[in-house]
Amino acid sequence: MSAQVIDGRACARELKENLSADVFCLRQDGLTIGLATILVGDEYGSAAYERRLRRLAEELGVPYQPHPLPAGTSQNDLIALVERLNGDPAVSGILVLRPLPAHIDESAVFRAIDPRKDIEAVHPENAGLLALGVPRFVPSTAASVFHLLDTWLDSVGEDRADFYHRALIVVVGRSNNVGKPAISLGYERQATVESLDEWADRTTGIGRHTRAADVLIVAAGKAGLIQAEHVSEKAVVIDVGINPRTGADGRVHMVGDVDHASVAPRVRALTPVPGGVGPVTDVWLLRNTVHAARLLAGRPAIGAALALPEPTDSLLEAS
Ligand code: NAD
Repeated sequence: MSAQVIDGRACARELKENLSADVFCLRQDGLTIGLATILVGDEYGSAAYERRLRRLAEELGVPYQPHPLPAGTSQNDLIALVERLNGDPAVSGILVLRPLPAHIDESAVFRAIDPRKDIEAVHPENAGLLALGVPRFVPSTAASVFHLLDTWLDSVGEDRADFYHRALIVVVGRSNNVGKPAISLGYERQATVESLDEWADRTTGIGRHTRAADVLIVAAGKAGLIQAEHVSEKAVVIDVGINPRTGADGRVHMVGDVDHASVAPRVRALTPVPGGVGPVTDVWLLRNTVHAARLLAGRPAIGAALALPEPTDSLLEAS
């Protein structure tokens, strides 16, 4: 029997409809919402992501400011732009697309973002709030992973709390932007969480951990890393990886970190690539932009509606 495929596009459509209604009402009500993105250079994946966000912002009626910069832009010039956007009242959310060129220290750039506009929670203040379980913003990819899981649990009639309390969640990949936030959200759901990085793969191998997983979240950026031998029948697999591959026709297409063909017949459910985590992440980034606008205007947050930890604005009030 083949696994259930968790449909990220359907999930994203529903989120988008709700968000669109929210944006319409808030803008009628005079709230300023605006997304600014900064793309340094033209890396394939981030340039594609920027184009998708631009289209989505247009569809949702969210004013959008793209800031494409040449790959040779200096760190000082980049930080100066971030500071200008911090002070721009038309901007509620700032996204600096990764990867940045090697001559730029990304942590210095992230520290320059006003934490109240830091919709991907890359500023240490927001990363710290997330780790403490009181996030101001939940980074969009990790939020999407758990939104897909929650939605799937609802669809199969499993009680979320009961499932997570019993579950072993194994997260493969430990980056600051995907793996670590996913670990924090697993803790928030009172699950047991294991985290693996490439050193586990190089030494003991990842299989002895991944085979025990009830939920396997894979964000390593390695096409085909997870094969049938790495999973068990009970696993719900969320494939975050996006890896460009050139097909026989010379066209570039995306594959995940999970070998869908060998894993799908073995597990309980899994997300496809494309059409899984990606579309939900895009909408969530816009959702965080709206959330930032609400917080900046002192309006109630929207996090609880999607069963994420209630975002905090206590620091906002203090600042
Ligand atoms: P990253 O390179 O910053 O981090 C990768 C992590 O995986 C590191 O912790 C590394 O140690 C670990 N890793 C690498 N090889 C491994 C192996 N063989 N075994 C175990 N761990 C291994 O990447 P990232 O930014 O976290 O992104 C990961 C993947 O997710 C990429 O393919 C990226 O394109 C994709 N991504 C997708 C979305 C989405 O919306 N679907 C969003 C962000 C990133």
